[in-house]
Amino acid sequence: MKADPTAQAKLLQLAEVDAELGRLAHRRKTLPEHQQLAEAEQRVRDAQDAVVRAETRAGDLDRDIARLERDVEGVRSRVERDRSLLSGSGVNAKQATELQHELDTLARRQGVLEEEQLEIMEEREAVGVELDHAAGERKTAEDEVAEVTGRRDTVVADLDASRTGRDRARGELVAVLPADLLADYERLRARGQVGAGALSESRCGACRLELDRTFLSQIRGKPADDVAHCEECGAILVRAK
Ligand SMILES: [Zn+2]
Repeated sequence: MKADPTAQAKLLQLAEVDAELGRLAHRRKTLPEHQQLAEAEQRVRDAQDAVVRAETRAGDLDRDIARLERDVEGVRSRVERDRSLLSGSGVNAKQATELQHELDTLARRQGVLEEEQLEIMEEREAVGVELDHAAGERKTAEDEVAEVTGRRDTVVADLDASRTGRDRARGELVAVLPADLLADYERLRARGQVGAGALSESRCGACRLELDRTFLSQIRGKPADDVAHCEECGAILVRAK
């Protein structure tokens, strides 16, 4: 294949632009913010689970507390009733003994209920602290998600702006390159290879390998508009004018 040395030099510019585009794409994909964001989002989910667990437990305990309050209230009103019966007239000795016996039982019952109430309220308090803690963790994680998202968006916007500039440069080069030379270059790139490299000293700019002396003198002897390929990587090897 033949190509004007100026066109070959432009191909090198294209290879540089493509390398830069590759670096930009790699950078965009491997931003540390992606990992940081995933971790912060996981922390939000974990904290949310802990909030739900604590809320559920708090709800159960609040129901227990309400039930115990009703029970204690029931005991108190029976105590009141028994006391007023006992202090009233028309109670015989046997009834008085029975009432007193019931009052003793009620007093014990009330003691048990109040103890249970105390225990549950202590647990409820601990769950309340747990809930506050989980909600605080969730808020911290949510703030981090917002902060990292903002940081990532800024970096991505910068990278995208750089890419837009390189895309434009690429378009301009592609428009002026000979079709066959460009096709050869793109064919190599489609294979995942670097399409072109400059020959500097005795090294290929694409694969960076030192080239064989015989091969070098062979291509140096060829006319300037002959398109050479690196014998190591196959890239279009552009000789300096
Ligand atoms: Zn090479």
